[in-house]
Amino acid sequence: MQYHVNGDLVPAEEATVNVRDRGFMYGDAAFETLRAYGGTVFEWDAHIERLRATCEALSIDHGIGDGDLRARIDETLAANDLREAYVKCSITRGVQPGKLTPGPAENPTLVIIVSDLPRGGTEGESVWNVPAHAEVVETRRMPSEAIPAHAKTHNYLNGILARLETEADEALMLDSDGTVTEGATSNLFFVREGVLHTPSLSGPVLPGITRRVILELADEAGIPTETGSYDPGDVRDADEAFLTNTTWEVRPLTRLDDTEFEVGPVTRDLAVAFDQHVESRHY
Ligand code: PMP
Repeated sequence: MQYHVNGDLVPAEEATVNVRDRGFMYGDAAFETLRAYGGTVFEWDAHIERLRATCEALSIDHGIGDGDLRARIDETLAANDLREAYVKCSITRGVQPGKLTPGPAENPTLVIIVSDLPRGGTEGESVWNVPAHAEVVETRRMPSEAIPAHAKTHNYLNGILARLETEADEALMLDSDGTVTEGATSNLFFVREGVLHTPSLSGPVLPGITRRVILELADEAGIPTETGSYDPGDVRDADEAFLTNTTWEVRPLTRLDDTEFEVGPVTRDLAVAFDQHVESRHY
């Protein structure tokens, strides 16, 4: 495999960053996990917009143009002959004199990592092998007053602490008031009496790109949606539930703590709608 590091394609085993890079030392960096279907990146505009918002939240003024970034991603995919792929793109504040206060990101570090990720969907196997089990964990989602929830930074300790608490596939996190937010790396949806619910972005919830696409597809399919504030009991009372993220797409949730769910019709319809959406855009 070849990765892109600061403008050069290098063999994966030689892809390194400076030990004084602030992304390594402090998690002072922004990233996006993207996906290529049929050789092109899914929802590029949304990813570039979220990356911009993260960099703005961190005041990382990296000066790398969108077209340049896209070209480097495309180059990395081509160099590895990948059409169905996982793509991770990171921008750090770079190496700076050893103090916490950041200076201007004059030499940002830009790394692109790719790996093979076969397409799930209408023809292939699902990317996830089995539906997910999740557990509500004690670790609370950081308030946006601490680190803005819309910022996708290299500091994933909050999610890591949550995952350490459980052997389930996903850790479901509550905010400091006990309201349901999201999984460590996924957004949560549940269906009750035919209405599709997901926690509102007014709480500390990452604005997932898959989440937004699913809400749009639900609208198109005439499935009523509601974003709101929910407690774990609301989820346990659901008829169906699922998780979304770029790699899992729509992943049914069949157990939350001791509550079991069937993989129901709304989940199935939306998973198919998502596959058809990808099919129509990329193949
Ligand atoms: N929430 C968190 C905390 C995440 O890390 C992710 C993965 N990026 C998501 C939700 C889902 O976002 P997306 O659909 O954009 O992958």
